[in-house]
Amino acid sequence: MEVHVRRGDSLYYYSQLFIIPLQLIIHSNRNVNAQKLSVGQLIQIPGFVTVTYQITPGDTLWRLAGSRGLPLDAILLLNPNLNPNFLQIGQTIQLPLRVDWRIVSGKQDYDYDTMIFDIRRLQAIYPFLRVSSIGNTVLGKDIPEIEIGNGEKRVHYNASFHANEWITTPILLTFLNDYLLSLTNQRPIRGLATSPLYIQTTLSIVPMVNPDGVDLVLNGPPIEEPSRSNVIEWNNDSLDFSGWKANIRGVDLNDQFPAEWERERERNPKTPGPRDYGGESPLSEPEAIAMADLTRNKDFARVLAFHTQGRVIYWGFENLEPPETEAMVTEFSRVSGYEPVQTIESYAGYKDWFIQDWRRPGFTVELGSGTNPLPLTQFNEIYEEALGIFLAGLYL
Ligand SMILES: [Zn+2]
Repeated sequence: MEVHVRRGDSLYYYSQLFIIPLQLIIHSNRNVNAQKLSVGQLIQIPGFVTVTYQITPGDTLWRLAGSRGLPLDAILLLNPNLNPNFLQIGQTIQLPLRVDWRIVSGKQDYDYDTMIFDIRRLQAIYPFLRVSSIGNTVLGKDIPEIEIGNGEKRVHYNASFHANEWITTPILLTFLNDYLLSLTNQRPIRGLATSPLYIQTTLSIVPMVNPDGVDLVLNGPPIEEPSRSNVIEWNNDSLDFSGWKANIRGVDLNDQFPAEWERERERNPKTPGPRDYGGESPLSEPEAIAMADLTRNKDFARVLAFHTQGRVIYWGFENLEPPETEAMVTEFSRVSGYEPVQTIESYAGYKDWFIQDWRRPGFTVELGSGTNPLPLTQFNEIYEEALGIFLAGLYL
């Protein structure tokens, strides 16, 4: 919601007026000098939208404000030319409305366009989010990263490395949405106050590492050639792509990282296909390169990659993980009921590379159980299991 500064207003006054933490207002107006507001200047108020209201007989501004739990001045601020003593029936005014509902509706076939639409809406209501592109897919789509918080502890979550595990994207974005609701409405999640998390951590989210693959699974082959003919051929001429994990060039992005890549190649297919082909060299694919560049640039303290399925958490790689990893995975396990597994015969994954090169905690979390793609009927159950891990990843 936007407001125009009046004489005597301050960001602190707005935080009192709307009961929104001052820091969130400051971070929603990064180009504004909070000490030097000028009359008429536009200020973003996070966590609110405006609605148009038509005056009916008997309305007074005092009553309209009171019934919405707002001070009268909140309405006057949005309607600078309104004379509260001369309301006219049928006249329209703007009312502030506190957002206390989810914007992200995760229980749907959640393709790339759906995600972009939701990210834009979240950005509009919560301008303290920072959204950027970490690179482009083979088919030229931007791969968005969302950052929230201003703390020293840098935490990274990603989802949908694997195309037919796309349910991880709306699960992760639903958490982001609930975190935002908790911050602006100052409501704890599972008894946990979230404003300290916002102050202490910077959370980086890449909600869809593999947009081309997700759209292939959900919407069928792309129009672009040669991708269209190639994926159909690699899929044994089937138009059912529900078993597809790879990117649009048939490369498994979670077999692309330089961490025992050759060993992974030994045991896997040597040609493009729906899954497990690691490419002709590590980091040959733009989506994997974008993730590697992001990770090199951002100095993450820990990373969690969300996959499906199995209800397990992989937390080791070649005994290179630091000792604190075990206590962390124990807590993740406690809050989710998922089983910690230190190592399996698997290499060249994103978390493997992170552990190997940084010697910091990295996790692959396999959400839910069943056959990929997991059905949306499991959404609530998976979300409840994942929520504890999302929170622990921040507070630990
Ligand atoms: Zn996976």
